[in-house]
Formats: sequence, C-alpha cells, structure tokens
Amino acid sequence: MDNTYNYYSAPSHDISIFTAYSIRRYKLKNHLQNLPSIDKLLQSGSLSSQIDKFGHKSVKDEARCQIDNLRESLLQKEDSALTWMSKPDFLEEFCQQISKAVRAQFSSTLIPVFNLTGTVVHTNLGRSSLPAEAVESMVTAATHATNLEYDLLSGKRGDRDSHLERAICEMTGAEAATVVNNNAAAVLLVLNTLAMNKEVIISRGELVEIGGAFRIPDVMESAHCTLREIGTTNRTHLKDYAAAINSDTGLLMKVHTSNYEIRGFTSSVPESDLSELSKERGIPFVSDLGSGSLVDLRQFDLPYEPTVKDTVDMGADLVTFSGDKLLGGPQSGIIVGKRELIERVKSNPLKRALRVDKITLAALLAVINIYKDPDRLEARLPMLADLARPAAAIEEVAAKVIATVSERLAGKALVTVQACKSQIGSGALPLDLLESRALCITPIAEKGKTDEALQRLSLAFRALPKPVIGRVSDGRLLFDLRCLRNVDDFLGQLDSLAD
Ligand SMILES: *Cc1c(COP(=O)(O)O)cnc(C)c1O
Repeated sequence: MDNTYNYYSAPSHDISIFTAYSIRRYKLKNHLQNLPSIDKLLQSGSLSSQIDKFGHKSVKDEARCQIDNLRESLLQKEDSALTWMSKPDFLEEFCQQISKAVRAQFSSTLIPVFNLTGTVVHTNLGRSSLPAEAVESMVTAATHATNLEYDLLSGKRGDRDSHLERAICEMTGAEAATVVNNNAAAVLLVLNTLAMNKEVIISRGELVEIGGAFRIPDVMESAHCTLREIGTTNRTHLKDYAAAINSDTGLLMKVHTSNYEIRGFTSSVPESDLSELSKERGIPFVSDLGSGSLVDLRQFDLPYEPTVKDTVDMGADLVTFSGDKLLGGPQSGIIVGKRELIERVKSNPLKRALRVDKITLAALLAVINIYKDPDRLEARLPMLADLARPAAAIEEVAAKVIATVSERLAGKALVTVQACKSQIGSGALPLDLLESRALCITPIAEKGKTDEALQRLSLAFRALPKPVIGRVSDGRLLFDLRCLRNVDDFLGQLDSLAD
C-alpha cells in the first residue's frame, strides 16, 4: 500500500476513493503478472477438443491473441477486464472464449438461407437447388479418381464433353454439345471463336444487360468482336440484317431479351428467317437463349419459354444457355449445335480456361438424366417443383406458419397472409408472375419510425441461424412462401429472433 496514505488528511470519502485507487493498482499489477500463459491454457484440458478438431496451431494462435487482448485491456485499465480476472471461474470462461473464437474462424461464411424473396431462380441466392441424384453424383466424382478425360477402351486420352454430349444432344436434337463454366462464358467463347476481329450483327432491341456485369456490347468487346447493331429499339426486320451483311461479317446473333419485354408496336425477326438468311449468305447464326428450358413449361401451367430444341429446330447453328436457370442444374453454360462449329469452339484455347470440372459435369449429367423421366420431372427437380407449386399448396404452408410467426412478433408487428406474385427469376419471363401467398409483416411503430422498424425486423430475420430473406414493399416485409419447404426448421429457429 502507498505510504503517502498515512499523511493524507482529506475528508473521509476522499480517503475511500484513494484506497480504492490503490487497491486497483495493486490488482492490476497482480493481474498482469497472473495472465495465464499459452502453455497453461493449452494444457488445461479445456481446449483439448478444439485442438483435436482444428489443430494445435490454430488454438495456440488464438490463445496468444486473446491473452494479448486481455493484457491490453488491463493496461487500458478497463474495469470489466479487472473484474473478470477476479472471478473464480475466470480461467474456464477464458478458455470458452478462445474455443468460440476458433470455431468462428473455421465456420463457413457460405451458409444456407430461406429464399422467401418470391424470386425462385435467384442469382444472388445461388439459383437452383440440386436434386439428390445430382448431389450423390457430385460426391462420387469428388471423392474418386475418374475417367474424366480418359478413354477406357483405348486407354488413351479422352474428351470431358463426351460424358454429357449424347444426353444433351438427345434432349435438344443438336449434333454436338460442349459445356463451360456459365452461359456468359458460353457466349464469350462462341463470339471469340466465330467472330474475332469481325462484325456481329444484332438487333438494337437485343443489346441487353443481364444483372451484374453481363452486357452484350461489353461481352462483344471482350471477345474482340465489332458490334454491328441494326434496326431500332422496338422494330427490326429481316431486310435490316440482310443489308448489314458485308465481307467483315462473322456472325448473325439473336439474344433472348430475358429480363425485359418491349410491347406495343414491335417487330423482331423469327429464328427460322434468320437461319435461312444465314445459310444463303454462308454466315453462322447463333442464338443466346439465356434460360433455355429443355421442356415446354406450359405442361406445368407455366408460361411458354422457348426450348433449346425449338431453337435448334428453327435452324440456329449454335445455341447457348445456362445450366442453372430453367434447366435446374449446377452453374454451367451449354453450347449446342452444328458439329463443325462445336469442334471449332472446343479448339479455341479459351475453352481450356472456361471448362467445367468433374464435379459440375457429374451434377449436370445427373440432372439431364432426370429429364429422361418426364412424368416425374416436377417431383424430382427442386427448381421445377418450386416453380410449379400451386397457390393452394402455398396457402397450406401459410396456414401452418402464421400463428407461430404472429405470436413471436406479438406487440412488434402485425402478420397477415396475402396473395402475391412470385417471379421465375434469372431474367426469365419478367412479366409473367406466378400466383403465390406471402406472410405480410407490418411493424408496429410510431409515425415516422416505420422504415427504421422495418429495417430492424428484416435484419433480425437475416440474423437467424438459417437467415430468412424476404423483400420489403410498401412499408411491409413480405415472405413469399413459394420456396418454403422445411416448415419445422423455419418455425423452430424463430425463438432466437433478436429483440
Ligand atoms: C442469364 C443470361 C446470360 C448469362 O448467363 P449466366 O449463366 O448467368 O452466365 C447470358 N445471356 C442471357 C440472354 C441470359 O439470360
């Protein structure tokens, strides 16, 4: 204890402050000396399961980091640190804190969420969920050596496209097929192969931007093609294409205007006419379908979307489409069409940079095989099951969840069930909305604070162990229940909704 204390003659409450100060300084010194050593922590046994799971190094590094932090807090004279170290079970709690931090370091940031946005094939939420068959194939491919590029008959090098080509050609009526990383890659590769340093003729109304950074004019530039736009925004005629063809023309191109529609006084040239023109003039004709369904969606009471087969039948020399939009498979881009052109595409050095791995191939093949069983397509393909889910079935989901959600939000928000419209997503059929049901959550808030309450509410749902993602519209939070399958999981975690 400090000597000066004896001579101190201030009023008594000052003395008590002084005494407290001295005790604190004493404690601080003591605590700094008593900071646990790394070895002591690691040997205490409390961290042994973490060491088993995550390895000695990670736990040791984290322990060092936490000790340094604690020392810093002591030096900054933080009361909480002083009090904590005085607790009898400090060491146990300290080890728990280290364990938690190590677990957090190893936890994935890529986690499942509930997609209640009302957009079924949602690019930012990872598009299609895969069927069980595809997952099984992926695991097998991932955990084994495979004959990915090995011909078992000849014992020589094989072709990775060979595994899928037959199935894709059967489904689409095309002569040949190849697969790349996504449809953007497919378009880039086709343009670069067939029209490098040449002109690509395309209708002005089809120079689309498809979310993120995919804009047709930019892709043309990256592929070293010159964009030759023809016609007007709303109307383009066959004679516009014909007039634009010259000795520099490499390609006639048609792009499916996935995410918007021009209505009213419009005109575009059908694929069959373009195909005829292209044959007459000896210039290839390519159609980028974007979504590209393999089957006619009208059989599921969904709006018509051009199928790949229709487009091939109408005479497109090459067709490009996504594997994870209306096909319901893994992220990939598929190019089908004339064998001679596919061969050229495959020998482009860029193909090597854009090719898919064995795991994607395995998943895609499994999904395409499901299409060979058309009667059970809807039952076996999650993407299609969600798209085709009737409003009555969604209404049943709403009836199952409304009470619990209302109860959990009692006093904070009003919850009702309302009719709403879902979207297919990924640019497909922007105007055709599917009839659905939503939980409609209206926060109870003072005037002027509704927005803030709404943001807090949305955040609380996004902070759940399996985050729930909805959409905000008109001062309400909407959870479109079309894609809600596991009701028990959804309701079970509502107890941990933050206040
Ligand atoms: C979605 C889309 C693309 C890009 O496909 P990704 O699979 O996202 O790479 C290209 N063209 C059209 C017309 C599209 O709709």
